[in-house]
Amino acid sequence: MTLRGKDHLGSLAEICEDLRNYLYYLKNLGLNTVPTSEKIKKFMEADLSPAPSSLKEIEHELRGCTRCKLAAERTHLVFGEGHDRACLMLVGEAPGREEDLVGRPFVGRAGKLLDQMLAAIHITRAEIYITNVVKCRPPRNRTPEPDEIESCLPFLHKQIQVIRPRLICTLGLTSAQALLGTKASLTSLRGQVHRIDNDIKLLVTFHPAYLLRFPQYKREAWEDLKLLKSLYGDLCTK
Ligand code: SF4
Repeated sequence: MTLRGKDHLGSLAEICEDLRNYLYYLKNLGLNTVPTSEKIKKFMEADLSPAPSSLKEIEHELRGCTRCKLAAERTHLVFGEGHDRACLMLVGEAPGREEDLVGRPFVGRAGKLLDQMLAAIHITRAEIYITNVVKCRPPRNRTPEPDEIESCLPFLHKQIQVIRPRLICTLGLTSAQALLGTKASLTSLRGQVHRIDNDIKLLVTFHPAYLLRFPQYKREAWEDLKLLKSLYGDLCTK
Protein backbone atom coordinates (compact mmCIF):
# COMPACT_ATOMS: atom_id res chain seq x y z
CA MET A 1 0.00 0.00 0.00
CA THR A 2 1.28 3.45 -0.87
CA LEU A 3 1.68 5.73 2.12
CA ARG A 4 0.39 9.25 1.81
CA GLY A 5 0.40 12.52 3.77
CA LYS A 6 0.65 12.15 7.54
CA ASP A 7 1.11 8.34 7.30
CA HIS A 8 4.10 8.87 5.09
CA LEU A 9 5.62 11.44 7.42
CA GLY A 10 4.93 9.24 10.44
CA SER A 11 6.69 6.35 8.75
CA LEU A 12 9.64 8.46 7.81
CA ALA A 13 9.94 9.68 11.39
CA GLU A 14 9.89 6.07 12.62
CA ILE A 15 12.59 5.04 10.15
CA CYS A 16 14.76 7.97 11.26
CA GLU A 17 14.20 7.05 14.89
CA ASP A 18 15.11 3.40 14.21
CA LEU A 19 18.23 4.45 12.32
CA ARG A 20 19.20 6.80 15.09
CA ASN A 21 18.74 4.07 17.72
CA TYR A 22 20.71 1.58 15.62
CA LEU A 23 23.63 3.98 15.17
CA TYR A 24 23.57 4.78 18.86
CA TYR A 25 23.58 1.05 19.61
CA LEU A 26 26.63 0.51 17.36
CA LYS A 27 28.36 3.44 18.98
CA ASN A 28 27.73 2.00 22.45
CA LEU A 29 29.25 -1.27 21.28
CA GLY A 30 32.41 0.67 20.52
CA LEU A 31 32.09 0.15 16.77
CA ASN A 32 33.61 3.44 15.83
CA THR A 33 35.55 1.75 13.06
CA VAL A 34 32.44 0.84 11.07
CA PRO A 35 33.14 2.11 7.54
CA THR A 36 31.11 5.26 7.19
CA SER A 37 31.17 8.67 5.60
CA GLU A 38 32.43 11.79 7.34
CA LYS A 39 28.87 13.12 7.46
CA ILE A 40 27.59 10.06 9.33
CA LYS A 41 30.57 10.21 11.70
CA LYS A 42 29.69 13.82 12.52
CA PHE A 43 26.05 12.85 12.99
CA MET A 44 27.08 10.13 15.43
CA GLU A 45 29.41 12.42 17.35
CA ALA A 46 27.25 15.50 17.48
CA ASP A 47 23.59 14.64 17.11
CA LEU A 48 23.41 11.42 19.07
CA SER A 49 24.76 12.86 22.27
CA PRO A 50 21.98 13.24 24.81
CA ALA A 51 20.22 16.60 24.65
CA PRO A 52 21.60 19.02 27.25
CA SER A 53 19.26 19.72 30.11
CA SER A 54 20.51 23.17 31.08
CA LEU A 55 22.55 26.11 29.87
CA LYS A 56 25.04 25.42 32.65
CA GLU A 57 25.66 21.99 31.16
CA ILE A 58 26.43 23.50 27.74
CA GLU A 59 28.63 26.16 29.30
CA HIS A 60 30.50 23.45 31.15
CA GLU A 61 31.00 21.56 27.87
CA LEU A 62 32.57 24.69 26.36
CA ARG A 63 34.93 25.37 29.25
CA GLY A 64 38.47 25.68 27.87
CA CYS A 65 37.16 24.94 24.38
CA THR A 66 39.80 24.60 21.67
CA ARG A 67 37.53 23.28 18.92
CA CYS A 68 38.55 26.10 16.59
CA LYS A 69 41.41 28.54 16.12
CA LEU A 70 39.54 31.41 17.83
CA ALA A 71 40.54 29.85 21.15
CA ALA A 72 44.13 31.01 20.65
CA GLU A 73 43.58 34.73 21.26
CA ARG A 74 40.55 34.89 23.51
CA THR A 75 40.61 36.39 26.98
CA HIS A 76 37.15 35.15 27.92
CA LEU A 77 34.71 32.89 26.18
CA VAL A 78 31.41 34.77 25.85
CA PHE A 79 28.70 32.19 26.31
CA GLY A 80 25.61 34.40 26.42
CA GLU A 81 23.29 35.71 29.11
CA GLY A 82 19.69 36.40 29.96
CA HIS A 83 16.54 34.54 30.86
CA ASP A 84 17.07 30.78 30.57
CA ARG A 85 13.48 30.27 29.34
CA ALA A 86 13.31 33.42 27.24
CA CYS A 87 10.62 33.67 24.59
CA LEU A 88 12.94 35.88 22.50
CA MET A 89 16.60 35.19 21.71
CA LEU A 90 18.90 37.68 20.02
CA VAL A 91 21.82 36.16 18.15
CA GLY A 92 24.77 38.27 17.06
CA GLU A 93 27.94 37.37 15.23
CA ALA A 94 30.84 37.18 17.68
CA PRO A 95 32.21 38.91 20.78
CA GLY A 96 34.14 42.14 20.24
CA ARG A 97 37.04 43.57 22.24
CA GLU A 98 35.02 44.72 25.27
CA GLU A 99 32.99 41.50 25.34
CA ASP A 100 36.18 39.45 25.22
CA LEU A 101 37.59 41.41 28.14
CA VAL A 102 34.59 40.95 30.43
CA GLY A 103 33.06 37.71 29.11
CA ARG A 104 29.59 39.18 28.47
CA PRO A 105 27.76 39.77 25.18
CA PHE A 106 27.02 43.23 23.80
CA VAL A 107 28.65 45.42 26.44
CA GLY A 108 30.55 47.84 24.19
CA ARG A 109 29.22 50.69 22.05
CA ALA A 110 27.20 48.29 19.94
CA GLY A 111 25.72 46.88 23.15
CA LYS A 112 24.63 50.35 24.26
CA LEU A 113 22.91 50.90 20.94
CA LEU A 114 21.25 47.50 21.27
CA ASP A 115 19.93 48.51 24.70
CA GLN A 116 18.46 51.68 23.17
CA MET A 117 16.87 49.70 20.34
CA LEU A 118 15.29 47.31 22.85
CA ALA A 119 14.15 50.16 25.09
CA ALA A 120 12.42 51.75 22.09
CA ILE A 121 10.18 48.67 21.84
CA HIS A 122 9.85 48.23 25.62
CA ILE A 123 11.88 45.03 25.92
CA THR A 124 14.48 44.58 28.65
CA ARG A 125 17.55 42.41 28.59
CA ALA A 126 16.33 40.56 31.67
CA GLU A 127 13.39 39.04 29.81
CA ILE A 128 15.34 37.83 26.75
CA TYR A 129 18.49 35.82 26.01
CA ILE A 130 21.45 37.24 24.07
CA THR A 131 24.30 35.29 22.53
CA ASN A 132 26.46 35.01 19.40
CA VAL A 133 27.14 32.42 16.72
CA VAL A 134 30.76 32.04 17.83
CA LYS A 135 31.67 32.41 21.46
CA CYS A 136 35.25 33.68 21.09
CA ARG A 137 36.46 36.95 19.60
CA PRO A 138 37.86 36.78 16.07
CA PRO A 139 41.17 38.68 15.70
CA ARG A 140 40.63 42.38 14.90
CA ASN A 141 36.88 41.71 14.99
CA ARG A 142 36.94 40.10 11.58
CA THR A 143 33.98 38.04 10.40
CA PRO A 144 34.12 34.47 11.72
CA GLU A 145 35.34 32.02 9.11
CA PRO A 146 33.21 29.06 7.92
CA ASP A 147 35.22 26.45 9.86
CA GLU A 148 34.89 28.52 13.06
CA ILE A 149 31.15 28.85 12.58
CA GLU A 150 30.86 25.15 11.88
CA SER A 151 32.72 24.32 15.10
CA CYS A 152 30.68 26.62 17.31
CA LEU A 153 27.21 26.45 15.74
CA PRO A 154 26.21 23.15 17.42
CA PHE A 155 26.46 24.93 20.77
CA LEU A 156 24.13 27.70 19.64
CA HIS A 157 21.68 25.01 18.56
CA LYS A 158 22.01 23.41 21.99
CA GLN A 159 21.28 26.77 23.63
CA ILE A 160 18.17 27.08 21.47
CA GLN A 161 17.19 23.52 22.38
CA VAL A 162 17.33 24.31 26.10
CA ILE A 163 15.82 27.81 26.02
CA ARG A 164 13.15 26.90 23.46
CA PRO A 165 12.39 30.47 22.37
CA ARG A 166 9.35 31.13 20.21
CA LEU A 167 11.12 33.97 18.46
CA ILE A 168 14.73 34.60 17.39
CA CYS A 169 16.08 37.85 16.00
CA THR A 170 19.43 37.61 14.27
CA LEU A 171 21.65 40.68 14.39
CA GLY A 172 23.64 40.91 11.18
CA LEU A 173 24.20 38.65 8.23
CA THR A 174 26.48 36.02 9.80
CA SER A 175 23.95 34.78 12.35
CA ALA A 176 21.10 34.94 9.83
CA GLN A 177 22.99 32.84 7.29
CA ALA A 178 24.21 30.39 9.94
CA LEU A 179 20.77 29.72 11.41
CA LEU A 180 18.88 29.73 8.13
CA GLY A 181 21.53 27.74 6.28
CA THR A 182 21.58 30.18 3.40
CA LYS A 183 23.96 32.44 1.50
CA ALA A 184 21.25 35.00 0.79
CA SER A 185 21.90 38.70 1.39
CA LEU A 186 20.74 40.66 4.41
CA THR A 187 18.52 42.78 2.18
CA SER A 188 16.68 39.74 0.87
CA LEU A 189 16.31 38.18 4.34
CA ARG A 190 15.03 41.25 6.20
CA GLY A 191 11.34 42.09 6.47
CA GLN A 192 10.15 38.47 6.43
CA VAL A 193 9.18 36.00 9.13
CA HIS A 194 11.35 32.91 8.65
CA ARG A 195 10.87 29.62 10.47
CA ILE A 196 13.46 27.23 11.89
CA ASP A 197 13.13 24.00 13.87
CA ASN A 198 9.46 23.74 12.88
CA ASP A 199 7.89 26.46 14.91
CA ILE A 200 10.49 29.04 15.95
CA LYS A 201 9.93 32.29 14.09
CA LEU A 202 13.06 34.15 13.03
CA LEU A 203 13.56 37.76 12.02
CA VAL A 204 16.67 39.28 10.51
CA THR A 205 17.95 42.78 11.19
CA PHE A 206 21.18 44.78 11.14
CA HIS A 207 23.96 44.27 13.64
CA PRO A 208 24.13 47.32 15.95
CA ALA A 209 27.87 47.67 15.15
CA TYR A 210 26.90 48.05 11.49
CA LEU A 211 24.36 50.73 12.40
CA LEU A 212 27.07 52.63 14.27
CA ARG A 213 29.16 52.67 11.10
CA PHE A 214 26.27 53.31 8.75
CA PRO A 215 23.62 55.27 10.68
CA GLN A 216 21.66 55.87 7.48
CA TYR A 217 20.27 52.32 7.93
CA LYS A 218 18.66 53.15 11.29
CA ARG A 219 15.40 54.00 9.56
CA GLU A 220 15.23 50.50 8.05
CA ALA A 221 16.27 49.00 11.37
CA TRP A 222 13.31 50.74 12.96
CA GLU A 223 10.98 48.95 10.53
CA ASP A 224 12.54 45.65 11.67
CA LEU A 225 12.08 46.63 15.31
CA LYS A 226 8.41 47.38 14.77
CA LEU A 227 7.94 43.92 13.28
CA LEU A 228 9.86 42.42 16.19
CA LYS A 229 7.69 44.27 18.70
CA SER A 230 4.52 43.09 17.00
CA LEU A 231 5.62 39.44 16.94
CA TYR A 232 6.92 39.66 20.49
CA GLY A 233 3.55 40.98 21.59
CA ASP A 234 1.72 38.15 19.82
CA LEU A 235 4.01 35.30 20.80
CA CYS A 236 5.51 36.27 24.11
CA THR A 237 3.15 38.44 26.09
CA LYS A 238 -0.26 36.82 25.58
S1 SF4 B 1 34.58 29.95 18.97
FE1 SF4 B 1 33.36 28.26 19.80
S2 SF4 B 1 34.25 26.39 18.93
FE2 SF4 B 1 35.76 28.07 18.67
S3 SF4 B 1 37.08 27.89 20.48
FE3 SF4 B 1 35.47 29.39 20.95
S4 SF4 B 1 33.87 28.20 21.97
FE4 SF4 B 1 35.22 26.74 20.93
